[in-house]
Amino acid sequence: MDNEIIQKLKNNEMKLYEIEKHASSVEEAIDIRRRFIEEKSNTKLDTIAKYSLDMESASQKNIENPIGTIQIPIGIAGPLKINGEYIKDNDEFYVPLATSEGALVASVNRGCSTIAEAGGVNTRIIDDKMTRAPAIKTKSVAEAVKIKKWFEDNFQKLKEIAETTTNHGKLIKINPILIVGNFIYPRFVYSTGDSMGMNMVTIATEKVLELLQKETDAQIIALSGNVCVDKKPSALNLVEGRGKTVVADIIIPKEIVKNKLKTTAKAIVEVNTGKNLVGSAISGSMGFNAHFANMIGAIFLATGQDIAHVVEGSLGITTAEDRDGDLYFSVTMPDLPIATIGGGTNLKTATESLEILGVAGSGNVKKFAEIIIATVLAGELSLIGALAAGHLARAHQELGR
Ligand code: NAP
Repeated sequence: MDNEIIQKLKNNEMKLYEIEKHASSVEEAIDIRRRFIEEKSNTKLDTIAKYSLDMESASQKNIENPIGTIQIPIGIAGPLKINGEYIKDNDEFYVPLATSEGALVASVNRGCSTIAEAGGVNTRIIDDKMTRAPAIKTKSVAEAVKIKKWFEDNFQKLKEIAETTTNHGKLIKINPILIVGNFIYPRFVYSTGDSMGMNMVTIATEKVLELLQKETDAQIIALSGNVCVDKKPSALNLVEGRGKTVVADIIIPKEIVKNKLKTTAKAIVEVNTGKNLVGSAISGSMGFNAHFANMIGAIFLATGQDIAHVVEGSLGITTAEDRDGDLYFSVTMPDLPIATIGGGTNLKTATESLEILGVAGSGNVKKFAEIIIATVLAGELSLIGALAAGHLARAHQELGR
């Protein structure tokens, strides 16, 4: 039977996605598809073939045409001490980081131990929302202005319609409503509970647009008109925020800066100004930071977040001040789309990672956001500290000559 299916695939008599219909189980379909690819590419996929995930469940929600899984090493950084709004009293966390980049976990770990010695990192969530902004076409600028008014005048009704599609999603506002020539882009802003919310807000917004089409001549060009802004670097997201908007700070006494980071507050401020602020400004970057994306990528992989959102998590600013030799250090992330429910968080490895942090499932996403921003601060502090230590060492060498 398997050989028969493979032959049909080779002869283009069966599509890759039709194997499940003919195999006795999802696992068997996966094996057949992989064997076909092995033969086509003249290779052995023995490692991709080994997995412990429930692929039957994954193939319903997370993947099409599966052939196995990849494996990425996962390491732990911690303990990370946090004083937040949802995490109290210097609670401690061991953070799972999935990466193939050597030195990343070690560096974050060094940041965690510096933070612990300084008494913990302070975290706050300033905003929480998910957005969807369709592209709508009208006949003229005058018509576009009328449609903008239609959204504004009918907000309460539109909110009720949107919320019929979900138990957890709430339409907070439709703002901004941008007009460009005869095009109009209403940015629907929702709260989405513990889910990241992209599917949720897409379904809710689609429902609202049914009424728009019934009551006006406006033409829906695309349900997402790129003003959302999903999975792209964006000044709008940097300023307005998307997902969780989170901030963290810490004061590190001068002795700890010296003993743990082998540098001074002055050197760290100099590196931060020259690199993260001025360097980023001159290059037109929207990431005024050293490497937010490193920590975000590793946490997202470990915990089943939508990995394409690393591009949004890379936005943000690191600041540093020399306070009489002590170091004030902060990180701000305006755009952190995350979930403890739905999407890839249902995959067992992701659920286990969320369980390590005690944030799997309902009621936990804000706690998770505080852990992420604290981890980002740990990684950022460690790298800037290392750069500053090198800068200091070079300065000393030059002075010594
Ligand atoms: P989802 O898994 O589609 O939706 C979350 C589900 O969890 C909803 O059905 C919600 O029910 C339910 N739920 C149960 N308890 C909840 C709680 N405490 N808080 C919130 N929801 C709860 O996930 P999603 O977050 O909306 O979308 C994430 C997925 O969308 C990811 O897989 C991502 O890759 C994908 N995605 C989609 C698009 C797109 O344009 N469609 C774009 C980017 C990413 P109720 O709705 O009844 O409340």
